[in-house]
Amino acid sequence: MELIDLKHGDNIISKVLQGSIAEEMEIEKGDVLLTINGKPVKDIIDYLFMISDEYLELEIRKPDGQIWVLEIEKDYDEELGLEFRHPIMDHARNCRNKCVFCFIDQLPEGMRETLYFKDDDSRLSFLQGNFVTLTNVSEEELQRMVDYNISPINVSIHTTNPQLRVKNAR
Ligand code: SF4
Repeated sequence: MELIDLKHGDNIISKVLQGSIAEEMEIEKGDVLLTINGKPVKDIIDYLFMISDEYLELEIRKPDGQIWVLEIEKDYDEELGLEFRHPIMDHARNCRNKCVFCFIDQLPEGMRETLYFKDDDSRLSFLQGNFVTLTNVSEEELQRMVDYNISPINVSIHTTNPQLRVKNAR
């Protein structure tokens, strides 16, 4: 699954899995997920955390503008069977550092656009193992990582101390 997406829109549902709870509730491709239990869903981390419950109230907007409120009872760890147009349900966060040795700045020109995107997104680290620096993480986001127990997150750390730079990490 391609998780890097440079755009962001509504939480538009791109697929409803066959035999899933979502299909049973008549949720369809093109519907928009507005809230879960009355709270907006900021991104895929919110979504995964919020659906881990035995009772859910989903607010769904249909393409004709109707708002459906669906009550769902399920096992705690049962998935809904939804996939979204933007897999992280948000724009991917980019790096704010300016490393002199940046490997992306050293790429040749003319390659595909996504290769030049400097992602630095703790959600991508949790979901697919990307390395991050955490230099662009707000206090609110740090608190959410703690509250949701988001782990592991791969953090890349560099030193400018010459002695440490040549030290064998093993
Ligand atoms: S943290 Fe990585 S992507 Fe960002 S400037 Fe440094 S080397 Fe480049």
